[in-house]
Amino acid sequence: MTEKPFDSSTDRPADPPSPLAFLEGGGVMARRIAEHDWDRTPLGAIAGWPQSLKTTLSIILGSPFAMYMLWGPRLIGFPNDAYLPVLGKKEALGLPFQQTWAEIWPQVGPIAERAMAGESSFFENLPIDMERFGYRERTYFTFSYSPIRDESGAVGGMLVTCMETTADVAADQRHQFQLKLSDGLRRLATPAEITALTCKVLGESLGATRVGYATVESGWVHLALPAWHDGSVDTRVGEKFPIDSFGDDLLAWLHEGRTVRLGDVSTDPLSAEHTSFYDYLAVKAMVIVPIIRDKELIAVVAVGSAEPRRWSDHEVKLAEDAAERTRSAVERAIAEQALKRQLETERDRLRLLFEEAPTFMAVLRGPEHVFELVNAAYRRLVGARDFIGRPVREVVPEAVDQGFITMLDQVYSSGTAQVVSGASLLLKGPAGEADVQLYLDFVYQPLVEADGSVPAIFVVGSDVTQNKLATEALHEANRRKDEFLAMLAHELRNPLAPISTAAHLLTLTAADQPRVLQVGAIITRQVAHMTSLVDDLLDVSRVTRGLVTLDQEVLDLKAVVAHALEQARPAVEARRHLLTVRTTSAQVPVRGDRTRLVQVIVNLLNNAAKYTPEGGEITLETHTDQERAIVTVTDTGNGIEPSLLPHVFELFTQGKRTPDRSHGGLGLGLALVKSMVELHGGRAIAHSGGVDQGSTFTVILPLAGQPTVQDVPRGPDAAEVVRPRRIMVVDDNLDAAETIAALLGARGHDVTVQTDAGPAIEAAALDRFDVFILDIGLPGMDGYELAGRLRARPAHADALFIALTGYGQAGDRARSETAGFAHHFVKPVDMQRLTEALAAAHAIRQSDY
Ligand code: ADP
Repeated sequence: MTEKPFDSSTDRPADPPSPLAFLEGGGVMARRIAEHDWDRTPLGAIAGWPQSLKTTLSIILGSPFAMYMLWGPRLIGFPNDAYLPVLGKKEALGLPFQQTWAEIWPQVGPIAERAMAGESSFFENLPIDMERFGYRERTYFTFSYSPIRDESGAVGGMLVTCMETTADVAADQRHQFQLKLSDGLRRLATPAEITALTCKVLGESLGATRVGYATVESGWVHLALPAWHDGSVDTRVGEKFPIDSFGDDLLAWLHEGRTVRLGDVSTDPLSAEHTSFYDYLAVKAMVIVPIIRDKELIAVVAVGSAEPRRWSDHEVKLAEDAAERTRSAVERAIAEQALKRQLETERDRLRLLFEEAPTFMAVLRGPEHVFELVNAAYRRLVGARDFIGRPVREVVPEAVDQGFITMLDQVYSSGTAQVVSGASLLLKGPAGEADVQLYLDFVYQPLVEADGSVPAIFVVGSDVTQNKLATEALHEANRRKDEFLAMLAHELRNPLAPISTAAHLLTLTAADQPRVLQVGAIITRQVAHMTSLVDDLLDVSRVTRGLVTLDQEVLDLKAVVAHALEQARPAVEARRHLLTVRTTSAQVPVRGDRTRLVQVIVNLLNNAAKYTPEGGEITLETHTDQERAIVTVTDTGNGIEPSLLPHVFELFTQGKRTPDRSHGGLGLGLALVKSMVELHGGRAIAHSGGVDQGSTFTVILPLAGQPTVQDVPRGPDAAEVVRPRRIMVVDDNLDAAETIAALLGARGHDVTVQTDAGPAIEAAALDRFDVFILDIGLPGMDGYELAGRLRARPAHADALFIALTGYGQAGDRARSETAGFAHHFVKPVDMQRLTEALAAAHAIRQSDY
C-alpha cells in the first residue's frame, strides 16, 4: 500500500456551518448514520470527517443502486438503502468490511486491497457463497470496486457498486442445464451413461459434493449406477443401504412423491435422528428427489453437500428436472437395450443357423461378386481360402472357365434366380494335392431391392458328389449285371451243344463201344464245366447273402497249396505253361476251411493259366512273416489294364474279351477269392504293370497259433478200398437214380433202386441196407419223412443216410441234418465225394463188427 494511513486529526473540518447537511435525502441509512455513535469507531465523530467522505456519502445514500462505501484503512462500512437486501440479516454500518463479510473475505479481500491501492475492478455474475441469512447460500453479483480519493489525492476509501444477479443467473443456469442435459442424454445409450451424465451436470451446476442415482428395491437403496462427486469424498457406488436408513418420516415424504430438502441434516427434524447415514455419505445438507412409477417409489436422485446449505427453490427445481429426465432416459435406454438384446439374440440365432447349416451358403455383393459371407459348409466345400472382401474370380479362379461367373453375371443383370442341379466343378487341390471333382446342386438367388436393383446374390446349395458317384456306380453295376446275364446265357449254352450232340450220338452208336466211351467223356466234361459254372453262381449268391459258414480247423497252408496244384495242373498243362512252385520247408499253419482255401488258390492258378498266352510262366510262392502267411501267384501273361485293376475283385468284372470268348468265365472267380480270403480274416491283392506285363495275385492270411492237423491229402484211390455195401437209392427221376446205381455198382456195391417212398419202405422192411441215398424232393412223402420211417426200423438205426437235392441252401442242410442225414449232396452228385463218404461210413461200421 502506497497511500498514507488515514489521519483523522488533520482531516477533521474546522467549522462546519451544518454538520449533517450531507445526509439530507439519504433515506433510512442517512438517519442511522446520524444516530450512530461514531466516537467509538476509528472514524471519530461526524464533525471530524473529511469532506471527501461526506461528499461521497451524500452521493451514494440517495442512489437507487445498491452501493456500499468503505472508508479508511479498516474499511469501515456505509451501505445505502438499496444495498440492504444484499446484506440480509447482516450489519454493515460502522463495521469493518472484513467483519461484516467474514465468510467471503478470502474471495473479496484481495479485490478490496487492489481498490485501496488505486485500482478499480469490475466483475459480472461472480458466484459468491455467502451466509447473509444465517445459512450458506450461493449468490451471483455483478459489481465494481473503485477507489475514492480524499482531499490530499490519496485513496481514502472505496466504493462497491453492485447488482445481485442470482435470479438471472439461476434462470440462465437452468436453461443451460436443461440444454446440456437433453443434448447429452440424446447421445447416450446405456442407463449407466445417462446417470453418470446427469449426476455430473447436476453436481457441477449446484456446486454439490456428491450426486447419486439410487434404485429402491425390496427394502434396499442401491447405488447401482455410476454417481458423481467432487473428488473430496469416497465414491459409494455399488453399495446398498437399508431403506429405513432414511427414517420413517422422510420415507413417507418420498413415497408421496415429495422432494426432501435438508439444509442441515443434524437439525432438520426429518433427518436429525438418522445422521449416521448422512455421516457415512459425508454430507451435511441434501436434496432427495423421489422417482415414482405406478405409485411405487423406484429410485431417488440425491444431491449432497459437505456443508450445511440452504437449497434454493431454483436448485431444488434443477434437481427435480434432472431426476425426471434421468427417469425417462433410463427407462428409454432400458427398453432400447432390451430390444437391442432381443435383436442381437435373433441375429446370433440366424447367424448360427447360417453358419451351421448343412447346405453351403454365401452372399456375393456387387457386379464383381465379392464374398460378403460364407458359412462353414461353404468353407469345407471350397477349402481354406481367403474369402471375405474378395471377388469370386480371385478366390475360386477355376470357376471362371467352368461357366460359374457367367451364370452369376446373368443373375446379377437379370435379377432372375438360377437353379442348377448336378453341376460339375473341378476344384484345384492345394499344392501337391490332386484336384477335386465335385457335383453340386445349387441356387443363385438374387437379393432384389425395392427399386429392382440387385445388390447381392445369395448362393445356397448342397454337395451331391457322393450321390452322383453312387448313382454312377449303380449304373456301372447294372451295366455289368446286364453284361453278366448275356455272358451267363452264352456260357451255359456252350456246353449244351456238345452235350446234346453227344447224347444224340449215343443213341446212334449204341453198339460202338469206343465211340460210346468217347461221347460219355464229352458229356462228363461238359457237365463238369456247367456244374462248376453253376457252383460258382451258387457260391456267389451265398456269399453275397452271408450264408457261407467256414470250417475252422488249423491247416498247413502247404498242404492246401498241394491240393490246389493238383486240381489246377490239367489247365496249366493244357496251355503248356511252365509252373514253378516255391514253398517254405516248415509248416504254414492257418485256420480255416480247407475246401475254400483250395478253391481260392485254384481260381488264381486257373486265371493265370487262362490269361497267359500258351507257353508262359507261372510261379506260385508261399512264405511267412511274423503273423501272416503269404501266397503269390505270378504269371507272364496278358496283364491287367490300370483302369480295370482297382475293380478286378468286384463281381462280374471282366477284362476285354477276344470275340470267341475263348477264356470263358463269368467274372465271378476273383470276387469269390476276395470274399473267401476276407472271411478267413485275410486280404487279396492284385498287381500288374499293365497290358502284357503279367500279373501277380497275392493272398495274405493270418497265421494260426498252432498247427494241430496233419493235413495229408487223401488220394482218390483211398476211397476205392471198400467193402461191398447194400445200398438203396430212392429218386423219382429214374435216370438220375440209375446213373448213381450204375456208378456205385461199378465200384462193387449192391444197389437197389426205388422211385417212390411207399415201395422203398416195403423193400426196406424185407431186407437190411447199410446205406440209403434219398432224393428229398419225392412226390407224396418227402425225403426227410422217408428217412424217419426207415430209421424207425432197428435194423436201419445205424444205417448211413445220404440226402440228394437240387438245392444247397444252408436251411436245407440244417434240415437234413436234423432228419438224421449224415451227408447232403447237391445234384449232380460229385462221385468222388460220394465215394469218400461211403468209405468213411465203412470205417465207422467196421468197428461195429
Ligand atoms: P473271369 O475269369 O470269369 O472273367 P475273374 O473274376 O476270375 O472272372 O477275373 C476277372 C477278370 O480279371 C478277368 O476277366 C480278367 O480280365 C482279369 N484277370 C484275372 N486274373 C488275371 C490274370 N492272371 N492275368 C490277367 N488278367 C486277369
